[in-house]
Amino acid sequence: MIRSLVTGGAGFIGSHLAEVLLLTGRDVVILDDLSTGNIRNLDDIRDHSRLHVVEGDVRNYCLLEKLVSEADEVYHLAAAVGVKLVLDDPIRTASVNVGPTEAILRFIGGTSKKLFLASTSEVYGKNPKTPLSEEDDLLLGPSHRGRWIYACSKALDEYLALGYFRKTGLSVIIGRLFNVVGPRQVGDYGMVLPRFINQALHGGPITVHDDGQQVRCFANVTDVVRTIVELMDCPEAVGKVVNLGSDEAITIRQLAELVAECVTPGVPITHISYADEYGQDFEDVRHRVPDLTRLRNLIGYRPAKTIRDTVLEVLEACKRALPMARGVDDSRYGPHKRN
Ligand code: UDP
Repeated sequence: MIRSLVTGGAGFIGSHLAEVLLLTGRDVVILDDLSTGNIRNLDDIRDHSRLHVVEGDVRNYCLLEKLVSEADEVYHLAAAVGVKLVLDDPIRTASVNVGPTEAILRFIGGTSKKLFLASTSEVYGKNPKTPLSEEDDLLLGPSHRGRWIYACSKALDEYLALGYFRKTGLSVIIGRLFNVVGPRQVGDYGMVLPRFINQALHGGPITVHDDGQQVRCFANVTDVVRTIVELMDCPEAVGKVVNLGSDEAITIRQLAELVAECVTPGVPITHISYADEYGQDFEDVRHRVPDLTRLRNLIGYRPAKTIRDTVLEVLEACKRALPMARGVDDSRYGPHKRN
């Protein structure tokens, strides 16, 4: 039986991944410090006989080494993510996103174990090309603009992983995740869809940043985790960077309108400047659409869910969570002025 280690397995994507891995018959070990992850994300699989949950920091290198040595394959998803969190704590972002990746690579370099490394479309930075393919340039902004530390840390992870692949023949697959959405994602760290849905559920307004003409592609988490597992079973993917996500483009204004239509038609939609939301030094990415040719050539990728399907699915999940959220300060879904 294959034993899979999933770091960040109690997080939004990690918990969905753990479910799929269990369905394939694997033994699954989750390492998570429950900082942005939540044990409730594992409610559906908590009692599964092949699931083992270890609560711990991915920077606990003794623990990490032990868990990696006991595993046949590793899915490394643990990271500091979300624009708000990254802006708030650049030091933690760098330390969580780089050291543990380097350690995992060191622990499994020279073995036949496989590694999936979760990277991000954020590494393309401000590259205006559409669509973005894996060979394109990474165009990051200046270091005084805090947002870029996330892209920078993940780009470093990619360089390290490719270095280990070349030097030791390590079986690593690097997935550049574009915007992933679905049940269990929370809006607290900036992610737009759960924020819009919760704002609409509370009577609005839905707060769109800037002119709302920025473009994103939102993939359903179940499509994405299925893809990750298929890539791990695809020998041709080894040593490659692969864009993962949807290429169905939508502006953020259109997303707000879709959410309004699905949740409460007529709910107000307002616009707020980036400066008011994130502070003067913030800069956004205007256009982010992946070229999925490589992914399609590798595994014949065809997503099952549209953005509308996903909005309805997340809406149901948010409604179910509402009674639990009562008493929680709703201002967390409002503006988050920084200076
Ligand atoms: N966004 C927005 N309102 C919000 C949160 C986000 O208009 O309450 C915008 C944000 O400025 C960005 C897009 O939605 O242009 C996607 O933001 P998210 O943080 O989800 O992902 P990323 O910026 O990493 O693509």
